Amino acid sequence: MYCGFCGKELDEGVLICPECGARAKNDINYCTNCGGLRKNKKKKACVFCKNSFNSN
Ligand SMILES: [Zn+2]
Ligand SMILES: [Zn+2]
Repeated sequence: MYCGFCGKELDEGVLICPECGARAKNDINYCTNCGGLRKNKKKKACVFCKNSFNSN
C-alpha cells in the first residue's frame, strides 16, 4: 500500500507513515491502493484503480 498523505510505498498494515507521520490509511493526497495522485479530491474513487477512498 501507499501513504495517503505523501504517496510513499509502505508495508501492508502500516498505520502511521514513517516518512511523514500521517495516518497511512486515509486517502488524503494519494490513493492508498495504487499510489496515484488524487487530483480531484471531490472524487470518491481512484481514477487509476477504482479503489473507493476512505477519507471524506
Ligand atoms: Zn507519508
Ligand atoms: Zn488507486
